[in-house]
Amino acid sequence: MTGTQPGDPVRVRVPGKINLALCVGPRREDGFHDLATVFQSVSLFDELTATAAPAGVVTVTVEGPGADLVGAPEDNLAVRAARLLGETYAPRRGVDLAIAKGIPVAGGMAGGSADAAAALLACDRLWGLGLPREALLELGAVLGSDVPFTLLGGTAVGHGRGERLTGVRVDHVFHWVLVTSGEGLSTPAVFRRFDRLHPPASVPAPVVPDGLLAALAGGDPVALARTLRNDLAEPALELRPDLAATLAAGEEAGAVGRMVSGSGPTCAFLARDAVHATVLATALRVGLPGRDIHVVTAPASIGFPHAGRG
Ligand code: ATP
Repeated sequence: MTGTQPGDPVRVRVPGKINLALCVGPRREDGFHDLATVFQSVSLFDELTATAAPAGVVTVTVEGPGADLVGAPEDNLAVRAARLLGETYAPRRGVDLAIAKGIPVAGGMAGGSADAAAALLACDRLWGLGLPREALLELGAVLGSDVPFTLLGGTAVGHGRGERLTGVRVDHVFHWVLVTSGEGLSTPAVFRRFDRLHPPASVPAPVVPDGLLAALAGGDPVALARTLRNDLAEPALELRPDLAATLAAGEEAGAVGRMVSGSGPTCAFLARDAVHATVLATALRVGLPGRDIHVVTAPASIGFPHAGRG
């Protein structure tokens, strides 16, 4: 575990997520949509290291796949998280953040939110604040709808914008194959397309699909596949028609279930077990040459691997 001595660098390994269900309600007055969603962390990780810096200084470096797509430091969600934590609880602190991306950028897997969560957890420890989880969750909700879940990891049902969470204990491991896309998809653009497709008056209040939580509890991927649902798949496919071929390739390769992850464009394919996941990945590498294909397990959790000085 890192940060055992005050001022030691703190390293946090934080997973991306998929939404096993992403049920979208009508657009609210504040522009957000009410959601009923089931988040699950998957074993594709960003790693963030926080090192003490002079008062008020917050810097960031980003490396790894897609780092060039992340944008300017001042817009980096991890920087905004560290600043918000500092302004609220530790005005005389500073931090240098180093992020190694493993979660695809703009891939519908909440990579930016995960980095914000990692920054909150790391700075809380680096600055010796010891804040209760509730305080971090409150700051997380200010930063973005997916940040609270990425602070918890594991599996959770989300309501509201996705920030009102109920943790779900899942004792079984599920095996997925993820196919990422070189080009990202903007979450706001996907929601705007959803609104064009579904006038607010026609959209019912969202509910978690029947049987999903029972399938998770039972560890049955075939039952889980039957309950997967993503209301953003249709608008994502309209914006990115090429995703239809990716989904078809997964079906042809024998996936038990398939879905667009969150707002896309990452596509997720459910396997029967670990061996089936490797078989599926091999078939997808043949069917989709040149694409990034990851075999992952779910749920995954946040970790604090050792970070030395330098
Ligand atoms: P969302 O959480 O909105 O669904 P996403 O999961 O599709 O987003 P992210 O990887 O979070 O995708 O990136 C969305 C946008 O956020 C990117 O286009 C990027 O410019 C910006 N961003 C800000 N900070 C980060 C970060 N630390 N890592 C990745 N992207 C970031």
